[in-house]
Amino acid sequence: MRQSPQRRISLVAKDARHILHPWADLTSLGRQNSLVISEADGIRVTDSQGKTYLDGIGGMWCITVGYRHRDLIAAMRAQAETMVYFTPFGNVTSEPASQLASLLSELSPGDLNRVHFTTCGSTAVESAVRIAHYYFSCRGQRQKRHVLAQTNAYHGSTYLAASLSGKAVDRTHFHYEGGWVHHLESPAFDPDNSTVSAAERLDHLIAGMERAIARIGPEQIACFVAEPILASGGVLIPPPGYHQAALDLCRQHDILYISDEVVSAFGRLGHFFASETRFGIVPDLLVTAKGITSGYQPLGAVLLSDRIADALVEAADPAKPVLSNGFTYSGHPVACATAIANIAVMQREKICEHVRDVGPYFLERLRGLRNWSIVAAVRGDHLMACVECHVPGETGPTPRNQALARAVDAYCARSGLLVRPYENLCILSPALIIVKEEIDQIVAILDDAL
Ligand code: PLP
Repeated sequence: MRQSPQRRISLVAKDARHILHPWADLTSLGRQNSLVISEADGIRVTDSQGKTYLDGIGGMWCITVGYRHRDLIAAMRAQAETMVYFTPFGNVTSEPASQLASLLSELSPGDLNRVHFTTCGSTAVESAVRIAHYYFSCRGQRQKRHVLAQTNAYHGSTYLAASLSGKAVDRTHFHYEGGWVHHLESPAFDPDNSTVSAAERLDHLIAGMERAIARIGPEQIACFVAEPILASGGVLIPPPGYHQAALDLCRQHDILYISDEVVSAFGRLGHFFASETRFGIVPDLLVTAKGITSGYQPLGAVLLSDRIADALVEAADPAKPVLSNGFTYSGHPVACATAIANIAVMQREKICEHVRDVGPYFLERLRGLRNWSIVAAVRGDHLMACVECHVPGETGPTPRNQALARAVDAYCARSGLLVRPYENLCILSPALIIVKEEIDQIVAILDDAL
């Protein structure tokens, strides 16, 4: 809805005065001139002044079937009218939660047949690690509590999830868990900018992981948490075979493999889940959120293999039988009903097949931008991609490189394209319904901006 200039000014002023945004830039707190998004439809959003943008970010990696999808809105409304909420604790369930859990078991790889719902990605990652700890404790191995994570990964903003995340810049001022979280080398491999082969890079990474396991002691390590492709870290793609080799090492040392598919699941890489179909592995625990509801409702889920779930049950202590983990809004009925509708739409509209069709085109078109001297790299896989900017000769997120990316993003916004600025990266993750003409529009605006 288009708002009068006075109303917009008043909204922006209230925002500047009263909101501390997630990931706020504190140097402009109180002076931020926030964009007010008032409407959204398909892959476009409209601001309060009536200006429409192509949403190159997909909300925040999460909008998959597009904005204002009638089926999802109908499902939300119907569930809210029927039974909006009741506690999910203990042995109480709701119809949508029960149905969604069964659907997720069908769609997910291997024997990931038990679902522990949460409220978002961070709470799902935290819950997965807590379950790993609980699992080993039940088996009398309480010392197995150390966690292997990846440098440059992002797992969320609650304290443990943030401790697992591996970007140095985000770790200032906080007291992150240092005693039992260990960051392995970022597994990025970019064939365009590498002096070593994929096989050499793989050997190097796995040797590093082996050394870390030996140093910490396998008997101390509970789990390895990994993103299939490191999304917010800059769409960093490991060399082929990395996940399989890491899983083999985990199995060898009785370390649980937790795959963080918060971004990669629900079609972004052309499949409901990327672990098995794209990377050939069935993890012990799989975490998802975001696209599960196409971003219409907050929801997260941990999928547990039967092996883990059965072991928890077998080891249950009658004196202390409760797995004390969960949230008031775990598996909220309206969110679960939305997710069921989202899955139905994805299947009916063949969204994964569509992504497999347009994904390679998206990357091919983006790769054309590498001709610009200020483009250091273009990376991606299907509908997750990024353009890395640099002042020629300067590498990494230096202040000048970050300023350059911000200028590109600002130019794009003026030209009607929203790109996610992150350090010296322009991150792109459009809704999965994007068609080739819209991809051409995105690339044309970026090209102009660069
Ligand atoms: N894991 C990954 C890979 C993510 O990209 C994110 C968020 O971007 C999270 C976890 C945290 O999810 P949420 O923001 O829903 O807590």
